[in-house]
Amino acid sequence: MAQIKRILVTGGAGFLGSHLCERLVSAGHDVICLDNFFTSQKSNVAHLLDHNNFELVRHDVTVPIWLELDQIYNLACPAAPGHYQFNPIKTVKTSVMGAINVLGMAKRCRAKVLQASTSEVYGDPEVHPQPESYRGSVNPLGTRACYDEGKRAAETLFMDYHRMNRVNIRIVRIFNTYGPRMHPFDGRVVSNFIRQALNNQDITLFGDGSQTRSFCYRDELIEGMIRMMEGSDQFIGPVNLGNPGEFSVRQLAELVVELTESRSRIVHLPLPQDDPTRRRPDITLAKKHLDWEPTVPLREGLIKTIDWFRQICIDDYRPPTPNY
Ligand code: NAD
Ligand code: UDP
Repeated sequence: MAQIKRILVTGGAGFLGSHLCERLVSAGHDVICLDNFFTSQKSNVAHLLDHNNFELVRHDVTVPIWLELDQIYNLACPAAPGHYQFNPIKTVKTSVMGAINVLGMAKRCRAKVLQASTSEVYGDPEVHPQPESYRGSVNPLGTRACYDEGKRAAETLFMDYHRMNRVNIRIVRIFNTYGPRMHPFDGRVVSNFIRQALNNQDITLFGDGSQTRSFCYRDELIEGMIRMMEGSDQFIGPVNLGNPGEFSVRQLAELVVELTESRSRIVHLPLPQDDPTRRRPDITLAKKHLDWEPTVPLREGLIKTIDWFRQICIDDYRPPTPNY
């Protein structure tokens, strides 16, 4: 087996973090999951608690913590618009102070640290598809800015700690990812549509539904993230991780209705401020440096996700905010 490492996953109880913890625990690593449970719950990692190479720490990443580590995956941050807009000041603090805290820890421990950044650093892009070299078009004053600018500032901090203190960093820019264990009340498009369709409720299509997104299945995204962490120190990123298949939100709504055999109607609601009109990753760098390319088609990933939503007891989930 490869060398056992001490690995911290901040935001480790969340949708992506819990799956990452699962992968790292099953590889035999000594895993610490740190989370304040703002948008998640312990049940996401309950099945890991009886592994002696897994620890769960309730902690807020905006507050320093003293740990001895070899690697840090920094995922702590609300990711769904309704959640990050609930307390936008806290969202900025989570991204910026969280980055400073994990980078300080990485510097002290000489640990490698990976930042879960986002396609939102490209804002409402004028370049399509988006390569990593594109600097983005973000409205710094809008309601998405707390997330977009927080993540951009975190990238800046990662690069500066790398240049100034030689911290061994990685930056991945994640595009819309979906799959089992998404919070059913996170307000994101995949979870909203599936929950609504399974309950035969109206499907809430924002705007005319012509805006596009590219949806990556969770397991493939996590594989890309681990490859980036374990890859060459000569390639620190940023690297786009996402599935280049591009769909309009209307197409997604229709597909979910078809796959759930739902009686739901599609209704239109106003498009939120600064909602990006198009989004698709250019994954040339990920293919070249990580030999990584998603293969799970949207239809197949949605079937697995819908199966999971059918199994859960929705009453076990509390809406983290009123914004879903
Ligand atoms: P999620 O909301 O399920 O997970 C985020 C986790 O961070 C939650 O468990 C939450 O409780 C925790 N958290 C939030 N603030 C915290 C704080 N101050 N201290 C400690 N823990 C805190 O979302 P996710 O989809 O799993 O996203 C994980 C990461 O990936 C986020 O950083 C997000 O920005 C990034 N990302 C996700 C996507 C996606 O499509 N899923 C896309 C781009 C970027
Ligand atoms: N959306 C929608 N109905 C919903 C939730 C979202 O039409 O109930 C749209 C939203 O306006 C956006 C896209 O779906 O254009 C993706 O939204 P999401 O919140 O999942 O993520 P984003 O990529 O915008 O951060």
